[in-house]
Amino acid sequence: ERVYGVSRWGGGYFQIGENGNVHITPDPKNPGVRIDFKAVIDEIHEEGVQLPVVVRFHDILRSQVANLNTIFADTIKEAEYQGEYQGVYPVKVNQMREVVEEIVDAGQPFNYGLEAGSKAELLTVLAMNTNEDSLTILNGYKDAEFMQLALLGRKLGRKVVVVVEKYSELLLLVRVSKELGVEPIIGVRAKMTVKGRGKWESSGGERAKFGLTIAEIIKTARYLDEQGMSHCLKLLHFHIGSQLTDIRAVKEAISEGARIYAELHKMGFKLDYVDVGGGLGIDYDGSNSTNESSRNYSMQEYVSDVVYGMKEVCDLEGVPHPNLVSESGRAITAHHSCVVTEIVGEIRSNSAEIATQAEEGEHVFVKNIRELEDTFDEQINMQEVYNDASQWKEQALDAFKLRVLSLEELGKIETMYWRIMTRLKAHYANAEYVPEELQELDYSLSSQYLANFSVFQSAADTWAIDQLLPVVPLTRMHEKPEVNCSLVDITCDSDGKIDQFTIGREITDVIPMHSLRKDESYYVGLFLTGAYQDVMGDMHNLFGRLNEVHIFSYDDDPQDFYIEEVVKGSSVEDVLNIMQYNPKAMASDVKRLIDRHVASGNMNPREGVRWTDFYENCLSGYTYLKTSS
Ligand code: PLP
Repeated sequence: ERVYGVSRWGGGYFQIGENGNVHITPDPKNPGVRIDFKAVIDEIHEEGVQLPVVVRFHDILRSQVANLNTIFADTIKEAEYQGEYQGVYPVKVNQMREVVEEIVDAGQPFNYGLEAGSKAELLTVLAMNTNEDSLTILNGYKDAEFMQLALLGRKLGRKVVVVVEKYSELLLLVRVSKELGVEPIIGVRAKMTVKGRGKWESSGGERAKFGLTIAEIIKTARYLDEQGMSHCLKLLHFHIGSQLTDIRAVKEAISEGARIYAELHKMGFKLDYVDVGGGLGIDYDGSNSTNESSRNYSMQEYVSDVVYGMKEVCDLEGVPHPNLVSESGRAITAHHSCVVTEIVGEIRSNSAEIATQAEEGEHVFVKNIRELEDTFDEQINMQEVYNDASQWKEQALDAFKLRVLSLEELGKIETMYWRIMTRLKAHYANAEYVPEELQELDYSLSSQYLANFSVFQSAADTWAIDQLLPVVPLTRMHEKPEVNCSLVDITCDSDGKIDQFTIGREITDVIPMHSLRKDESYYVGLFLTGAYQDVMGDMHNLFGRLNEVHIFSYDDDPQDFYIEEVVKGSSVEDVLNIMQYNPKAMASDVKRLIDRHVASGNMNPREGVRWTDFYENCLSGYTYLKTSS
């Protein structure tokens, strides 16, 4: 627990069980229900599903939807706030059909709606969000077709709100709605002066890509008035960035937004809704701080700031409390999915040794480094030992390039060098002061665990923006983890690695894991991947989408669960098709080549058939490594 901090980032959904396995509690209000992650993996194997696999806990998704909505409802009641909460889920955060369907279903009792930011998403939400009492919010840049689709939604009796992101969209919307004779519900997105803090801070401020300036908002309101449509203006929207790390930014945005709402109201534009956008953060590193991958507040504190902040300004200004909308995506989906992979190997600089005994006529560099190793225990100045060893190793490499040193001699130097470094590390293990260069030893002597997955497919933000995601062994947690390591993936790209972890509050480049055992699988989970990561990945090296299993718990059996659905990941054929190949033609080309070799006697006919089948099976197989289990 101290190393992996499961209870700190787990949101109450994950714990370390007494048997050393990670356990899942899909509904923290019902702590009696606990699913053993190892049992889930066993079931995955039994179903014949290959790793790596995305495991989705649908109960967690439902739980988060209920949490957000009940916290808003309870806070509104407690604050005697006059408006209601009408949240929407922004589908861009995870557009997978099963995820959106589950959210819509769990959101029914709360009239929880959907948000779309592109034409494809709009087509999706029109088909999904069929509850007429919930909102459908449309953000993003729009064309005439987009507006027509929105008005189709209105025709179907749905509360579709078109949020104007730039002034020209307003003119387009008014024109199209008049042509079709359908009245729109209009929202305006304000460009806020307050900026969020964190990785997405450029979503706010004057250079923000989206939104109208105050002058443009006033112009919008007046234009609608001229067109006899001021009653259509119903919503004010703002969004100052995702993953807001500091609660102060939320408070500031609410007071700025509330002031704009109140002023518009006084100008005669009586809006029904204020939409505070997304931004509700997740504590990925468990530090509960303003670290970029954390946030210094809880969901309850966020909601309180929204409700009480809005109430305070409205009461001061003497305007009615608007209904509140939020577009939280990350907070709804992050916890529900986890990538399960298996470690398939270990890479260590000092893993191989060759014999280093003295030999007649050997080079002086070999002699020197051996002498250093032999007298290690008598050395007083360890910094000097480090300097000498490093210098000889470097010089040896130059000498090798100049053909002065043989390959064998270089191998001996390398072996002795790493042995010295290992002893130096042990020497400083409990020291209070460790010289700067020697601090790097931990990293250079650490292992790299090779995990069967692709960072680019399953943890895109880890590569793109250094997003930290919890990495946790799923078993053996009651054993002390003794191998310091980072994780590397199976892509042929040295960026395909995870070397940022949190231990306690400290960000580290290695994390302790357990030593690998022969004939025993070591499973690792990459947690909190449900928001963005699930859907943003690419096919670098042609590693495709992962197999998925959807887990539900049984109400009547606290330990039991079932795999409700298995969604097959991409086959090699699937990814090749996307890249414009024709796998069938490829298979027949290879078969023709094999036949030619059979005809010329290079291969016997039975062998030829076997190779042909093998090639075809690989084409229809999974893109990831096949492991033994
Ligand atoms: N609404 C808008 C307009 C957004 O741009 C985003 C994402 O940045 C969201 C909602 C979702 O934000 P989050 O995932 O932080 O809740």
